[in-house]
Amino acid sequence: MRSRIPYSCQTIDEDDIAAVSECLRSDFLTQGPQTRAFEDAASAYVGAGHAVAVSNGTAALHLVCIALGLGAGDLLWTSPNSFVASANAGRYLGADVGFVDIDPQTGAIDPDALAAKLIEASAAGRKPDILIAVHFAGHTHGFDRIAALCEEYGVALVEDAAHAFGAAYEDQPDRMVGSHPQSAAATFSFHPLKSITTGEGGMITTGSEELARKLGMLRSHGVTKDPAYISDARPDDGGWYYEQHELGFNYRISDIQAALGLSQMRKIDTLMAARRDRARRYGELLSDLPLHLPLETDKSSWHLYVVRLDRRYTNVSRKALFDALRERGIEAHVHYIPIHTQPYYRALGFSSGDFPQAEAYYDTCLSLPVYPLLTDADQDFVAAAITDGLTLA
Ligand SMILES: *Cc1c(COP(=O)(O)O)cnc(C)c1O
Repeated sequence: MRSRIPYSCQTIDEDDIAAVSECLRSDFLTQGPQTRAFEDAASAYVGAGHAVAVSNGTAALHLVCIALGLGAGDLLWTSPNSFVASANAGRYLGADVGFVDIDPQTGAIDPDALAAKLIEASAAGRKPDILIAVHFAGHTHGFDRIAALCEEYGVALVEDAAHAFGAAYEDQPDRMVGSHPQSAAATFSFHPLKSITTGEGGMITTGSEELARKLGMLRSHGVTKDPAYISDARPDDGGWYYEQHELGFNYRISDIQAALGLSQMRKIDTLMAARRDRARRYGELLSDLPLHLPLETDKSSWHLYVVRLDRRYTNVSRKALFDALRERGIEAHVHYIPIHTQPYYRALGFSSGDFPQAEAYYDTCLSLPVYPLLTDADQDFVAAAITDGLTLA
């Protein structure tokens, strides 16, 4: 009897366990040398000037919005086809949140919809202060156009790259996600289901030294001990002296987690190659079915492999297919319930019908299991179950 096949799962090996054990025997458990080494490895890998590790991907988004000066009454736009954290980042600061509808081919913000909405917003005198673009599933198609539009309209661009650690930009294949010259910062998540994991964890990459310094302070209570920034020290103040300059948080990552992250990073090429191979293989196995398959690409980090029912050729409901897979122990998933249809956002004035492409996407999408440890046999089993689910109905 085959055990369950989850839609995603972490890859932990003996090296990872040894790295964490070694950290537990060291002098530092919270933010210390492992955290700095993890940040250095990540910024070198991504090709960004600076990396700041934090407690999770949501904290990363929150801190970037603070550091960019977002506040009450300001405006943040993001994709409705994302996890709620992408929008909540603005709400934490009292900013208004808006959404830009998606391109169903990519699941990400449609650059044409963004262009149209920016023209309208400019005419109305209410341009967004920040756009959080989400690299849905790890894909980056159309991102250079989004970046160019943000530059043209003076909108600060942030990449929610929670899905995209290890991805390269489709339009600039020599560049890793997290190093785009036109974005203020990119945020990553190291939740167990993401490209690499630290249990809980996150990272911000940026080309700006000033922004990185601010983020480093904000993640630890807004406090600094750096002599270059101390303003009020008296001659009698000694090595204990610190100053709080901003209202920061405790969003630190621990060295235990950073040790795991550093160990995971050593395997990133293998992990990415495995995910890309799984995606390529699904493309072969599912090509004859009444499904829209994701765009083919070897730049994506393939956090998700999302198929959509092709309504020209099948009436099978998404729920029926989902349930048919569950019966065989295959835990497919759905990404995402459009954020604006959540009760919290409806209470702010949004309603169903506001972003029709994201809603149509939600109605037909299904995320199939994709992760490095998924075997050929697992994938064949999934493909057979989908074929049966679509034909026997
Ligand atoms: C996972 C995720 C987040 C949040 O990351 P956490 O580390 O879980 O806080 C944010 N945005 C997207 C798109 C995600 O998938």
